[in-house]
Formats: sequence, C-alpha cells, structure tokens
Amino acid sequence: MRQRYCRMCGNWHELEAWPIECFKVTKAASDTLPVPYFISDTMEPTLHPLDQRHYTSKSTFERITREGGYETVGNDPARLRPPPKPKADKKAIKDSVQKAMARFRRGERVSGINS
Ligand SMILES: [Zn+2]
Repeated sequence: MRQRYCRMCGNWHELEAWPIECFKVTKAASDTLPVPYFISDTMEPTLHPLDQRHYTSKSTFERITREGGYETVGNDPARLRPPPKPKADKKAIKDSVQKAMARFRRGERVSGINS
C-alpha cells in the first residue's frame, strides 16, 4: 500500500483512494499560479446611464462617458448618474400666467363653465 502524506488534511491517504475533497483542494492549489497583482479592467455588468447598455469593461464605460461629454466623479463608474433635467423655464411660466391673467381681467372666460 502506497500512502502519501496529505498536506490538505494532514492525514495519510492511499494514492489509489485519495479522498475526493482532498484531491480537489490539491488540484485547485496547483492551479493557483503566482500572478502579479494588477487592477482588472473587468467589472460587474454596469448599466451606463447614457446609452442604457451594460458594460463589463471599465475602460469602455469610461470611453462612453467621455464621448457623451461627461466625466466620472470618484472612482466608481456606477456613481455616474443621468444628467439632471433642465430646470423649468420660469420666465416662460411667468409669461404664460401673466397672459392668462391679462385675458381674465379683460373679461375673457372659458366658455361652457359659467355661461
Ligand atoms: Zn487529505
């Protein structure tokens, strides 16, 4: 019987009857290659508010943002929100109300209500 020491669980197993759980861990560990740390360009699919598409590439997301004439504030693209809607034209509203008041003062009424 050939037994080997298992570094996963600290016990000895027969090579022909290696516990599956120890085998998996051993295999996974062997697949873990030392890789230098780097900032990945990939991210969770993120909805871009400008074109309503999902992107998994940070650089593409940023490009769409720049092409749309915007810039990302902070380091999280998801912080980008749709641009604020233009404020109501207060002057136009005021003019419209004043015109209506002027018509009212001239005696103009909506027909069918009081007549
Ligand atoms: Zn084991």
